[in-house]
Amino acid sequence: MPEAQEGVLHDVTALIAFINSVSVTCVNRDPAAAYTAAADRFFLFISELADKSVRYLSSWRPIDNADFEDRRSELQSIRAVWRHFHNFIKPTLDADTLHGPYSVLAGIIQRTRELPGLEGLDVAMFLTPEPNHIQVYVTSFHENALKIRALVPNAPLFPTNLALIGVPYSQDSTTFPNCLIAHELGHHIGNQKDLRTRLDEAANASIRAYFGAKYANADAVQRSVWIKTVGGWAEEIFCDLFGVLLLGPCFAYSYIEHFDLCSVLDSSGTISGDRLGEATRFYVGHPSHHFRVQQQAQILRASNWWEAVTSTGSHVSDLLRQSLEIDLAVYVSKDELGDLVHALIDILPQVRAEVGAVFNGADDGWNEYSQLATPVKSYLKYGVVPSSVVSVERTENQDALVVHPSPLVLLNAGMEFYLTEVGTLMRTVPKEDPSSCERRVHWVRRIEQWISKAIEDHLLMGGSA
Ligand SMILES: [Zn+2]
Repeated sequence: MPEAQEGVLHDVTALIAFINSVSVTCVNRDPAAAYTAAADRFFLFISELADKSVRYLSSWRPIDNADFEDRRSELQSIRAVWRHFHNFIKPTLDADTLHGPYSVLAGIIQRTRELPGLEGLDVAMFLTPEPNHIQVYVTSFHENALKIRALVPNAPLFPTNLALIGVPYSQDSTTFPNCLIAHELGHHIGNQKDLRTRLDEAANASIRAYFGAKYANADAVQRSVWIKTVGGWAEEIFCDLFGVLLLGPCFAYSYIEHFDLCSVLDSSGTISGDRLGEATRFYVGHPSHHFRVQQQAQILRASNWWEAVTSTGSHVSDLLRQSLEIDLAVYVSKDELGDLVHALIDILPQVRAEVGAVFNGADDGWNEYSQLATPVKSYLKYGVVPSSVVSVERTENQDALVVHPSPLVLLNAGMEFYLTEVGTLMRTVPKEDPSSCERRVHWVRRIEQWISKAIEDHLLMGGSA
């Protein structure tokens, strides 16, 4: 089949050229840019995979027409995977060590490594044009890496303990908004533990029980759409609860601020039913943000950290507290989506059990926080980086005890200070105007830098990431 052979040669050549053009960016990267060991592992994977893919394609020849019919789709599949990888390479190259929230990320990694079975976790970061962390679907990279391994002989295995996490490019030098990275890590860890299979099974059972005859009469495609919707919502809740258990209330505060959820508060600081209206709506792609905050508040209320929420005294912590009073019925719309919300509500105990299992035996960090939050905040009040704080004052009988607060304490105490004390800090500065939002931004950046520096110091002096 000379003509077909010519066509095959053309298609294979075009695919090799495409793979080369994608991978060459990893090989010829800017020598002045520095990357973390995790990013280097990612680049090495791409280079090795490109090498193996090109070798395989160079010898790709169907033996006859029947073989051609059977195997032509392979080329299409290999190209589809490389198109997918294409989306991540330049954004990962952009996230060199000068352009990414590295100290916050390193602090979050250190905290995650405290969890049983996650000691070897590593994270490569990429900068994304998405405005928020929680809509970056990171697990798709691992799925595509497995797909191509089934096609290309000796293709390298993408390390299962290497997470690929997207950070909005605008947040590369902020601190508190990046607490939302924990949500993405939740996706990675859920994926490692095959969480979605169990959540989809639970969703299926719940939908069957709730829908009755409607379920029995539905075809497989319809049922699959329902299961994917409820299973997807449950996974999002899992990731939020993971974030809260990993980082404490600062995760929920970042979430509330990012989505401007305080817009439902009236002038007295109370949730207004009228304002809440549309905000209670679920979408096929994600649950209502207020529903999600309510779930975060519930898991916090059952933990030691609730004391910190109730004593913070900010409108953001107030919203978190008040979210518990919202009747679940307001989330259940009078349509099919509302019926699916019912099915989700039925499986929430399983979602909580799944996230609880991840943290089984882990220290919740409350003890350290309750001892160090006050000194950390008083350091911030005087504009001092809280890297080494006095935990126990010196007495006649003993020396003072100086400790380096952990990222968990620094992020929570720092965020509470940011939510409640910016004005106080500014009033200590001569000629500063606490009513100027522009000047407040300046001081918020300073607070973030102090916290970020203290996290770096903690890692240098004891932890590692
Ligand atoms: Zn998500």
